[in-house]
Amino acid sequence: MMPNQPNRPNPDEPATIEEIEVMPAGHAPSDSGTRSDPLARAALESRPKVRYGDGAVIACDGLVRIYKLADLEVVALQGLDLVVEGGEMIAIVGASGSGKSTLLAILGGMDVPSAGRAVVAGYDLGRMSNTERTRFRRRVVGFVWQQTGRNLLPYLSAAENVELPMILDGRDDRRRRALELLDLVGLADRASHTPDRLSGGEQQRVAIAVALANDPSVVLADEPTGELDSATSADVFGLLRGINKALGTTIIIVTHDAFVSEQVQRTVAIRDGRTSTETVRRTEISHEGHHRVISEEYAVLDRAGRLQLPRAHVESLELRNRVRLRLEDDHVGIWPDRGDADAPEEKR
Ligand code: ADP
Ligand code: MG
Repeated sequence: MMPNQPNRPNPDEPATIEEIEVMPAGHAPSDSGTRSDPLARAALESRPKVRYGDGAVIACDGLVRIYKLADLEVVALQGLDLVVEGGEMIAIVGASGSGKSTLLAILGGMDVPSAGRAVVAGYDLGRMSNTERTRFRRRVVGFVWQQTGRNLLPYLSAAENVELPMILDGRDDRRRRALELLDLVGLADRASHTPDRLSGGEQQRVAIAVALANDPSVVLADEPTGELDSATSADVFGLLRGINKALGTTIIIVTHDAFVSEQVQRTVAIRDGRTSTETVRRTEISHEGHHRVISEEYAVLDRAGRLQLPRAHVESLELRNRVRLRLEDDHVGIWPDRGDADAPEEKR
């Protein structure tokens, strides 16, 4: 965050935080009148603050998370920016320790940012009351962890595990919905099995059904296929894709699996607590009628104009400390600083 930048360019900023905070049309005028009426206020609060497809469902702006240990500070996120549109399915990749799980924990309302902002489906995650936080975790997000054992209670059947979030949220008609969800994940015939009678892949399918129980806007999955063999992992990933298409649920999946990250429309790479590159894929149809996936890698430019150069570029030109920049008609050139002899002006 750079709060004191007088001439930060504004007009072209992506639709993000500011817009998300605005309640959908129709809410605002009646708000003031109902503020004193607890029932009306409760009804208002339980309404989704952003409708599906209303632009970005997730917006992180300069997100910072610092862990304070005894006499040490670990900066897990250092000014991370990320915008995810409703209905997107994206992969997040990055070396171990780069901040992926920290980001997901914040987006899931399980952890709070030290600075910066994260807004998910209209909820400002740094400013929620405890009541709002509980409601957010139950209704707005679903979580799937890598460890199969962390997703399910061992003494409950598959159906009971799926019912549990609905019980906590006071929903009716739970059993019917639990069975429907188990059917959706291909496990209708395992409803009465406890997790120890299910394979790892089946347990993750049940975990996905649990995550979907209260019809969340966003499913966050932290290496959900990390403990599965590649065939099972492809199945579970296919299921997530199917759910994203069929239900329009926004899905964020942290993964090390190249197979997974290559099959989503967008892969965001995190390096040292910041988004560094994004790979965007689209399908083109060739003259012969064949589908072909075009994949393009972009560096992420943050709102303050910073970008991370890919490590390979930095190494191949031995860029360090400072570089020369030059604005051309349609691009910006970067040169290593090797004294005046190599200055870009003289290359021309
Ligand atoms: P990833 O999921 O990408 O492997 P994490 O988000 O788990 O990365 O961790 C990012 C950094 O924060 C790492 O340096 C890690 O050691 C540190 N970290 C994560 N959780 C904690 C914690 N609870 N206390 C202290 N440091 C932590
Ligand atoms: Mg992790």
